[in-house]
Amino acid sequence: MIKTEDIEKEILCVASFPDERFLDIIREVGFGCDCCGKCCTSGFNDHVFLLDDDAARIIEALGSGFLRPAPYFDFCDELGRFYVMGYALKNKPRGDCIFYTGVRCKHYEIRPEICKIYPYMLHREADEEGNVDFRQVSGLNQHGLYHNDISDETCKEIAREVKKYELDFLGQKLRFMHSIKDFFRKQNLRNSRQMYDRMMRKYENGGDIEVYVFFKGKLEKEIISKQIISS
Ligand code: SF4
Ligand code: SF4
Repeated sequence: MIKTEDIEKEILCVASFPDERFLDIIREVGFGCDCCGKCCTSGFNDHVFLLDDDAARIIEALGSGFLRPAPYFDFCDELGRFYVMGYALKNKPRGDCIFYTGVRCKHYEIRPEICKIYPYMLHREADEEGNVDFRQVSGLNQHGLYHNDISDETCKEIAREVKKYELDFLGQKLRFMHSIKDFFRKQNLRNSRQMYDRMMRKYENGGDIEVYVFFKGKLEKEIISKQIISS
């Protein structure tokens, strides 16, 4: 199980990342979006994760039909039930975001926070050689325009929004971890890798699986099958 202490450390790391360094990177890269739409397609992103407030906003505006449990479930108990830290937007059959029309976002005004900050990020991940370090721009040189002049005010706003997103994400993850620890302890459950693999095989073969999604402090039960996710 991922340790809550590790998430707490990660929160401290992101919060203490020097603003000046981040501002320099944003200014130096000078990224400009040319509205190509790649980030809404499966070629760039296999899912769009929703913070709790994103999911609530979309449910309020459009109902829950566009949501699904985020992929890469975190846990599976010995009874074969999965647990995951939040919702994601559904994908179209070919994997593009359900809101992508082919030229634009159909619900741009209520788009998730991750879409607002993309391609900026501020989290640590391994590169191709396994070196873990902070990454600040996703898909560098694979999309958009570079070396544009970005005003100090805009740089500051980007840095503020990105840090906020990453901290909100980690906060949701930490609350989820505490909640699962508590739930497993009270129900006398344990995480089972063996059951995880068995139920994923069932899912891959088109069977129904039960997934509990952490949303606004509660675990919401969802029954899904591969056909539903890719519809
Ligand atoms: S929600 Fe809109 S902006 Fe975000 S990935 Fe989907 S189509 Fe693109
Ligand atoms: S953020 Fe990048 S991938 Fe997305 S529309 Fe802009 S240039 Fe294209």
